[in-house]
Amino acid sequence: MIIRQPFSRRQFVGSVAAAVGALSLRPETGVLAQGQTAQFTGSDADYDNFIKLASNENNWGPPDSVMQAMNHAWKYANRYGYPDGNVVQVIADHHGVRRENILLTAGSGEGLNVMATTYLGPGKKVLGVSPSYASVFQQAANVKGDAIQLPLDKEYRQDIGAMIETANRYARDIGFVYMCNPNNPTGVVVTAREIKDLLDNIPKDLPVLIDEAYHHYVDDPAYGTAIPYVLEGRPVVVARTFSKIAALAAMRIGYSVAPAQMIRDMRVYASNSVNVLAKWGAVASLKDTAAQADVKAKTLSMRNNTTKALQSWGYATIPSQANFFMVSLGDRTVQPVIEEFRKRGILVGRPFPPLLNHLRVSVGRPEDMEKFLQAFKEIFPQRTAG
Ligand code: PLP
Repeated sequence: MIIRQPFSRRQFVGSVAAAVGALSLRPETGVLAQGQTAQFTGSDADYDNFIKLASNENNWGPPDSVMQAMNHAWKYANRYGYPDGNVVQVIADHHGVRRENILLTAGSGEGLNVMATTYLGPGKKVLGVSPSYASVFQQAANVKGDAIQLPLDKEYRQDIGAMIETANRYARDIGFVYMCNPNNPTGVVVTAREIKDLLDNIPKDLPVLIDEAYHHYVDDPAYGTAIPYVLEGRPVVVARTFSKIAALAAMRIGYSVAPAQMIRDMRVYASNSVNVLAKWGAVASLKDTAAQADVKAKTLSMRNNTTKALQSWGYATIPSQANFFMVSLGDRTVQPVIEEFRKRGILVGRPFPPLLNHLRVSVGRPEDMEKFLQAFKEIFPQRTAG
């Protein structure tokens, strides 16, 4: 079994835990974890001028319905026990679950951290893949736990067979399994069949966290949400966010869906501190299904056009089901390429080891993608093969 270290040496001092070959992750203070987004350090005007294709945001911004709902909520800014649009019930109804199955969090990222705090601890490991969204692995380190990260297969897919085998072999050491679906940074999905396979073939009390941050962009019929497993009472936690399709990243609101007892266990570690504008914005967003469909259609069409253009320029892309994609840079490494784009006023994704010859690009509006393609063609010569 190959286990990859997802973090740079500067970020973590790794030591191999002999039994499982897992990597101990110890954060250095003051170093940005891979799951975190760096605060922009230039002027406000600089920020506004950059084309932002680095953080998988929704570049269209919130629709009018959501802006109006948030504006309406300002009048509660000085309150504690204010009306909150019944946000938890609205989310529960949306999924056909009960209020006690929902943990409202400040972004889904808080839910991922809470999961790691609840189910890890000294020596306990989270099992996942590399590269993937790094937040739970970072939090594992924070609570003195560890991570087992399996490599992706040749098609950049999560290897469910290897995951099942590892989960069974090291069951006693593993606190929970983390699966990002679609995966960030690749955009590749785990199929509904594979999720069932995983859940049916690992110890039945082993918690599984399925991060569906990009759920709303998927159009592959083989994919399916894992929320039905919560209804079956399996130890499954599904994390969702309003940061992506609903364009509320800076408002910080997301939630976890899980069996009631798991929610009770996790709530102890949650901040229970989502702000009033976020709550009203989230409620409006769930109701505005037309706006969500519009964002999905525009995003997928821009993504498909851009990846086609890159392929005809000679650069292969990883087939993505999300609002971002990865393009192969051939033998060039990504860090200097990120700098090249920055010089041209375009922010693109950070490096995702071990995929250091790939660049992650978030999908933007037509004018953003036009500038991105123009810059790409300046930086990279046309080639005959991808
Ligand atoms: N999960 C995945 C896969 C992500 O890519 C992100 C953010 O980019 C998050 C969770 C956290 O998002 P938020 O805390 O804004 O909901």
